[in-house]
Amino acid sequence: MTINGISNIEKRARELRDLINYHNYRYYVLDSPEVSDAEYDELVRELIKIEEEHPKLITPDSPTQRVGAPPAEGFLPIRHRTKMLSLSDAFSFDELSAFLDRIERGLFGEEVDYVCELKVDGTAISLTYGNGLLVTGATRGDGKVGEEITPNTKTIRSIPLRLRLENSPSVMEVRGEAFFSIEQFEEINKERSERGESLFANPRNAAAGSLRQLDPSITARRELDSIVYALGYVSDRSFKTHLDVLQFLKEAGFKISRFAKHVKTRDEIFKFCEEWQEKRDTLPYEIDGIVIKVNSLEQQERLGATSKSPRWAIAYKFPAEQKTTKVNDITVNVGRTGALTPVAILEPVKVAGSTVSRATLHNEDEMRRKDIRIGDWVVIQKAGDVIPEVVAPIASKRTGSEKIYKIPDRCPVCGVEAVRPPGEAVKRCTNISCPAQRFEHILHWMSRGAMDIASGPATVTELLKKRMISDVGDLYFLSKEDLLNVEHFQEKSAENFYNSVDDSKKRPFSRVLFGLGIRHVGSHVSDVLAKNFPSIEELRDASFEDLTVINEIGPVVAESVIKFFGQESNLKVIDKLKRAGLNMQEVVEIGAPKKLEGLTFVLTGTLARFAREEAEEKIKALGGRPSSSVSKNTSYVVVGEKPGSKLDKAKDLDVKIINEEEFAKLIGE
Ligand code: NAD
Repeated sequence: MTINGISNIEKRARELRDLINYHNYRYYVLDSPEVSDAEYDELVRELIKIEEEHPKLITPDSPTQRVGAPPAEGFLPIRHRTKMLSLSDAFSFDELSAFLDRIERGLFGEEVDYVCELKVDGTAISLTYGNGLLVTGATRGDGKVGEEITPNTKTIRSIPLRLRLENSPSVMEVRGEAFFSIEQFEEINKERSERGESLFANPRNAAAGSLRQLDPSITARRELDSIVYALGYVSDRSFKTHLDVLQFLKEAGFKISRFAKHVKTRDEIFKFCEEWQEKRDTLPYEIDGIVIKVNSLEQQERLGATSKSPRWAIAYKFPAEQKTTKVNDITVNVGRTGALTPVAILEPVKVAGSTVSRATLHNEDEMRRKDIRIGDWVVIQKAGDVIPEVVAPIASKRTGSEKIYKIPDRCPVCGVEAVRPPGEAVKRCTNISCPAQRFEHILHWMSRGAMDIASGPATVTELLKKRMISDVGDLYFLSKEDLLNVEHFQEKSAENFYNSVDDSKKRPFSRVLFGLGIRHVGSHVSDVLAKNFPSIEELRDASFEDLTVINEIGPVVAESVIKFFGQESNLKVIDKLKRAGLNMQEVVEIGAPKKLEGLTFVLTGTLARFAREEAEEKIKALGGRPSSSVSKNTSYVVVGEKPGSKLDKAKDLDVKIINEEEFAKLIGE
């Protein structure tokens, strides 16, 4: 191969790594994939092939060497006692045979038996029990460190809070899957669609999205189920086989799969896969394949694992079901964040048990890359994804009358300009009062970090449905009597809501700014803006240069702020808020410099005395800055119960570590 050839391959490997990392982020962190699993798997396979042929190109951060994604912000990190790995895949019986050959070679021809299990399409969970009581629940995260979701796992009824054992091990870490039944999943998506929210792509994203909620009451409202299939760690017990472990888990009170089967020959394995491929539609939940595991734990130990998956197990993935049909039209759908998504309107066709008449085209670039046109015959598929997808056009069926579709420059719902921000794949409507975005924006306005109005989605839906509000400004002009006309409210709840709205008028200017939901303006950027432009007028009149001259404001934020204030409809909402008496300027306290001025704090673990938002508010009120990651510029790391990896990082970087007591003293409480 020429030097030039290698460099092209190197370039492609880099490109694939970037692409896969991007899709991992959308899938594992945002629970909102942009491409189908089949397309994602293709990218991964291409990278694996390149890396096999050119091992020098394997980088330690290559997605082929890692599991999932690191814990997202907002969750406490939890280190797993043993790594939570992924599974390697087989997409055909040939690949499955190759796996069985590797096992036999690895065990030097020893006798080996297997357990076949259904691969439930949910999200992995780890449950730790101390002396029989559920202590923590966690997601898989990047395999080493997951996200703490204990209150959320406690809402799943099939997870025992106390083990049904006489003598519980002192420590036990159980691994399993949290998932939705197809019925529940469809119900959730129906509700989301009625509220104008974006739909979950598949039950797995719905399960992950529901479990990874900072507010466990949202998880509780959605009925997740669980099946467990392994022990990550157990003290005071030992087992010989995987089947013994499953039996023990069952006795301990967990739900295990009824369909796990002990098998000895290849034919039995293939038969199990074939049978379930046929009957998968008879199950009340989705499965996306079969997991085949070596039964003996001692043999498992000897076979070991790669950095990504065990060598003693494999997932046989069912092929995606594909059909051909015609694209009758292409339209755009406006999502809750204002994203304009192209949607193909199809000649109805039956795929994987349901009739499909619409399919997402994801975004303009994807539509162009696949070259899908109005009038095209196309292949569509439903893989793990419930929302079907257009795979490719059938070029040979073109007649010349097909039309290329262009995403409109104006939002089809409200008519305001839609723009595609630099570096993003989607065009967005720029109007916060756009009916398509209204619901989500009002919820954001009411959220804890913004106006902290005690109520939820049901109230917003009702108020919008009754046309009592059309934007956040209207909330402040509702009377108690108005609210009593809404069925949803009783006397007491109407009063509470009214008072909570009234109380929110006291929030500082920076929180109002955050609540406005300007793209790229999160809570920290809102603080920075409020400090530098102490009134809404000054911010409205700021030029690109005025904004970017500030240390922490880059061109993307500056553009977004200018666009926001350039929109007449947004100014109208601001005007309403002003008339309602909200804080539209920063209250500058004159006097001694604030106590924590210039100091940066990182919190880790659970504090006993303060909720996290409360501690952060107190830091801000005293002029300090809360941050989510430790660096050498961090002034203090405040350590609570069960601290995460931030504590290790603080020790590595020699950052000052204080406990809750010391923190309370520092802030004068
Ligand atoms: P995986 O889902 O293919 O397999 C591993 C997981 O299977 C385990 O973590 C566990 O949660 C689950 N599982 C279910 N039943 C099990 C059983 N009986 N025993 C053991 N495990 C069982 O692997 P992954 O790493 O979680 O995810 C990879 C998958 O995600 C691929 O299918 C890929 O296409 C998809 N993905 C898609 C995108 C995208 O953008 N569309 C991005 C990233 C990943």
